[in-house]
Formats: sequence, structure tokens, C-alpha cells
Amino acid sequence: MPLFLLSLAANLVAVLRDPSWWVIPALLAGWYGADLASGLVHMYMDYKPTPAGKGLDALYFYAGSRESEHYKALWRERMAKVSPLDRLIYDFKNHHPRPDALGRRDLWRLIGSTVILAALPFSVMLNVLAFTGLVPGWAAAGGVTLIVGGAFAQYFHGSLHRAHNPWIVRAMRRCGLLMTPAAHQLHHDTLQRDFATNCGWSNPLVNRLFLAGRRRGWFDDAGLEPTA
Ligand SMILES: [Zn+2]
Ligand SMILES: [Zn+2]
Repeated sequence: MPLFLLSLAANLVAVLRDPSWWVIPALLAGWYGADLASGLVHMYMDYKPTPAGKGLDALYFYAGSRESEHYKALWRERMAKVSPLDRLIYDFKNHHPRPDALGRRDLWRLIGSTVILAALPFSVMLNVLAFTGLVPGWAAAGGVTLIVGGAFAQYFHGSLHRAHNPWIVRAMRRCGLLMTPAAHQLHHDTLQRDFATNCGWSNPLVNRLFLAGRRRGWFDDAGLEPTA
């Protein structure tokens, strides 16, 4: 995390060394791009079936207490049998009947894997491109908001399922830079729209893509829940 913040700061220095009016639209475009990525990933994960024969349905439909030792042991046993990507796919589906669980997770649990696998490598790559002059300041600015929005996407989604949030989240909601819980509820009501969870600016586009996919027979409702 300190390395990630350092790399982001270096990218901001690169922006300040090469200022232009293009910085402002680039910042907004990057923020839109991160929102679009959050929507496309979410749409894919919701409808992508979990692997069959791994017994993930036993976790999803578990009737007893999720605090019990029996459940925790079962969770470890079943999750050990699937890939990290399938675990993530399971998490997205599990989020629909139990949305509040996401709101209870701490920051690192929500963003850690995204930072290590995507945001940090991209940010370091941008450092190199910006300081060698291959990428102009305005493009680095767009890169920063794209990386920050992408890295924190699951944190922002979690904040939509939490009653108390830091002042920065509340301020960004007031400016329209983050969406409101009421706007995100539209997703949970039908699971067929508004997949983007950062600012929601890309939802009109994501909704169109979803409808076009459905007409082609993609996004089958059967994928929404794990099967045996
Ligand atoms: Zn969903
Ligand atoms: Zn949600």
C-alpha cells in the first residue's frame, strides 16, 4: 500500500510538471473509465456460472449460522477446491442475498488483490511512461483517476452497503463523483441493470450492453446462483 501511494504521488508530480487544460477532461474520462470497468466486471461476474461439482451451492444456500464452526470449516473446504477467480465469481453472487457482508469488510480485504494484481503494476508502468516523456501530463492525469477508481471500486461498492462512511465518501456523493445507496438499490432490485458501482455515469451504456447481450442469449438467469 505505501508503494502504491508513492507511485500515485509520482504520477501526480508528472501531471504538475506538464500542466494543460486537457488535464480536467482527462481526469473525468479516467473516472468514467473506472466506473465502466466496475460495471463490466460486475456484469460478467454476476452471470458467469460457478464451476459445477464443487459444492459451492452448499455455502450459498447454507441454512444454519454463518458464524458457526461447521460453516467456517465447510467454507474453507469448498473454497480450497476452486480457483481465485471462481472465488471472486462466488463472492459477487453471494453479495445479492447478503449485501451487508461487503459493508463490514475492511479496506485491505476489499482492495488488496486489485491493488497488487492490477492497480500497482499499471501505476508503476505509468510512472515510467510519464517520466520518460512518452505520455503527456494530461494522459497521466486520466491514468491516475482510472487507477484510483479501479483500485477502490470494491471499497466504493462496500460503502454503498454501510450506514457510516468517512467524510470524503459523503462529500464525493454530494458532488456526484460517487453514486448513492438509493441509485445502487436499482441493481439489487432486479439484478438486470446498473452494474456500475463507482459514480454510475456509465450505467446508461452498461444497461444497453446488458440488454444487447440478453437478446443474444448471454447472461442467463441460471448463472446468478451456484449449482451443485
Ligand atoms: Zn450484482
Ligand atoms: Zn451491492
